[in-house]
Amino acid sequence: MYIDAHSHLDFFEENIEDAIVDINSNKILTLAMSMDIESYIKNKEYSNKSKYIKPCFGIHPWSAHKVSESLETYIPYIEESEIIGEIGLDYVWSEGSHTYDKQRKVFYFMLDESIKRNKVINLHTKGAEEEVYNALKKYNYNKAIVHWYSGDLDILDKYIELGCYFTISVDIGYSDATYKILDKLPNERLLVETDGPTALKWVNGQYGYPSIIKSVVKKISDYKNIDVDELSKIIENNYNRLLSL
Ligand SMILES: [Zn+2]
Repeated sequence: MYIDAHSHLDFFEENIEDAIVDINSNKILTLAMSMDIESYIKNKEYSNKSKYIKPCFGIHPWSAHKVSESLETYIPYIEESEIIGEIGLDYVWSEGSHTYDKQRKVFYFMLDESIKRNKVINLHTKGAEEEVYNALKKYNYNKAIVHWYSGDLDILDKYIELGCYFTISVDIGYSDATYKILDKLPNERLLVETDGPTALKWVNGQYGYPSIIKSVVKKISDYKNIDVDELSKIIENNYNRLLSL
């Protein structure tokens, strides 16, 4: 079985039915990240059409400045969602510094409420790698998937030491930085992702259907010289271990 540990199914828009067929026919367990409540409700609807889709509630750092002030309204969604995502901070690709205060307010709320409930969290850390690390370290919390890490390698070491898990994404084969990250990651912390249809487009101009997860695994297997089936098993074991923490 393949596991896509970070996707955005609502980004498929009019192609969602094709994406769900692709997920079902290739048996890809898909962690469907949410941007906000609306996006989470869509992910729940998609999950009615596939036993492989796991809807995950989160408020994305790009959405944080647009959401309601009454953060308490998120608690029932946090409670019902086994995995929380996408949450985090973004000081590079967000709309600008006017969003930072609200980003922090939303992120720290989501983080605290998730930790209280022992949830797996799926983290966005762009340009805020150290701050997000410090937030986890404060609680010694490592039930976390750091999605598509692209920060400094010495901060990466700290996340590894804390015990976090990491996704390798669709830029494998296109980015030397990703190979450097892969060199550092212990196999037992490795997960993979597609990040929805638009991530591959950003990398090489192609639209990314869910089954591109297979080529992510294949490229890692070639690079690490591990058989594809063995690598898939390692990834599946990692995922199961993380959920059972
Ligand atoms: Zn994402």
